[in-house]
Amino acid sequence: MAKQEQTQEIAQLKDIIAHAKEYGFVYPSSEIYDGLQAVYDYGAYGVELKNNLKRLWWETMTRLNDNVVGIDSSIFMHPTTWKASGHVDSFNDPMIDNKDSKKRYRADVLIEEKAARLEKEGKLEEAQQLLAAMGRLLEAEDLAGVRDLIINEEINCPISGTSNWTEVRQFNLMFSTQVGSVAEDSSTIYLRPETAQGIFVNFLNVQKTARMKVPFGIAQIGKAFRNEIVARQFIFRMREFEQMEMQFFVRPGSEMEWYQQWAEARVKWHKALGIPESKIRTHDHEKLAHYANAAMDIEYDFPFGFKEVEGIHSRTDFDLKQHQEFSKKKQQYFDPEVNQNYIPYVIETSIGADRLFLMTLCNAFVDEEKDGKSRTYLKFHPAIAPVKAAILPLTKKDGLPEKAKEIVDALKYDFNIIYEEAASIGKRYTRQDLIGTPFCIAVDHQTLEDNTVTIRHRDTTEQERVAISDLHGRLGEACSFRRVFEKI
Ligand code: ATP
Repeated sequence: MAKQEQTQEIAQLKDIIAHAKEYGFVYPSSEIYDGLQAVYDYGAYGVELKNNLKRLWWETMTRLNDNVVGIDSSIFMHPTTWKASGHVDSFNDPMIDNKDSKKRYRADVLIEEKAARLEKEGKLEEAQQLLAAMGRLLEAEDLAGVRDLIINEEINCPISGTSNWTEVRQFNLMFSTQVGSVAEDSSTIYLRPETAQGIFVNFLNVQKTARMKVPFGIAQIGKAFRNEIVARQFIFRMREFEQMEMQFFVRPGSEMEWYQQWAEARVKWHKALGIPESKIRTHDHEKLAHYANAAMDIEYDFPFGFKEVEGIHSRTDFDLKQHQEFSKKKQQYFDPEVNQNYIPYVIETSIGADRLFLMTLCNAFVDEEKDGKSRTYLKFHPAIAPVKAAILPLTKKDGLPEKAKEIVDALKYDFNIIYEEAASIGKRYTRQDLIGTPFCIAVDHQTLEDNTVTIRHRDTTEQERVAISDLHGRLGEACSFRRVFEKI
């Protein structure tokens, strides 16, 4: 990547982070104590946007697919769960320290970043060879080989500029804590690093009680925790985050078909939300996780390059088999169509709500120069915009605020509405642009005469006169999830 281009991209991320904080989307956690690395809080508009994204995902999964149901399992699980799933033994990332800067890095990320640079320079084959070499070394757990690769590829520490590297070591990402009030009685439990295991251990409960037949899916949204070695890039990599996962249980042998089908469905979903074709791609994994027989990432072109937003994994029957072995409870399904008992295979779609949020914010952020004026606005799809409409009386007198409040009352049960009367109408439009409100509804003197208002559209700034009686229908039409669902 050319230096200038890279600087511009970093500047864009900085602008987005500053915007997110200033306009009530995302704050560093416990900021008055100087924050806690890789932990963030969502503000008034951030929480609305995040809730809308989660609800959209939930309804896509559970309403549009009559063979997918939801659950909500606990963060704490029996510790054997994580032994069975392989997380205690192998949920590791390879880390490496630079002895001069004393900075810690993920060895695989250093190599991936070098590959991304090669790719930007048009050296596609070299980039692929590098990733493949890394994949082979990690697969063989050859950590000394990974270090040699870093040195041979002349990958230096971005801070010190040197290649004075330590050995590569594995680092387990799970947070642990104690249950029990007395130290002697306590036992170690983990904060779940993924929501998926809550689905696996409930597979038979859900299958039986919701009377599901394979193929069927279980969806869940919930917090996950990972002690990430390097926490950078804002809410892209957090230590406490939210996942939206769906495990789809299928007949053994049919998993590749379902894997392709879900991958296509998920890419379509992102596009329906307004992500342009050029900014999204899929990327097959070089190194498969211990449980997978196929895996791909859906990547978005963030200001810091193409990076994973969602993972699609074919997890085989690994997890259910392991739980069967460790719990000594059969995890089988009787399939009446083939008259057979089997442990189903699983296709997983797994997306971080926070990463989806960051993608949505980056994609919506517009900083444009038009007719000599600059304007910043967030062009969220109206279905997920935090606030759907702002009701703005032109002045604070002549009965305009009262009329405007009548409109608020007529809309507020179905839409998130803001009422604002302070400052000039232009300033109020700008404030709404900055939080991505798609419609500003101005109430003026004509409104008192003919019950019409002006709608000002965020993206074009065009205005039109409409009857108050049409507002509910107009907002409903533009902001309905149906607008997204129809494109899936
Ligand atoms: P990465 O390679 O970026 O560490 P991963 O492959 O470990 O991610 P998965 O285990 O597949 O990620 O998790 C599924 C999804 O959960 C990811 O696609 C991402 O959206 C989200 N996710 C994972 N780790 C984090 C994190 N530390 N912060 C925010 N979101 C995360």
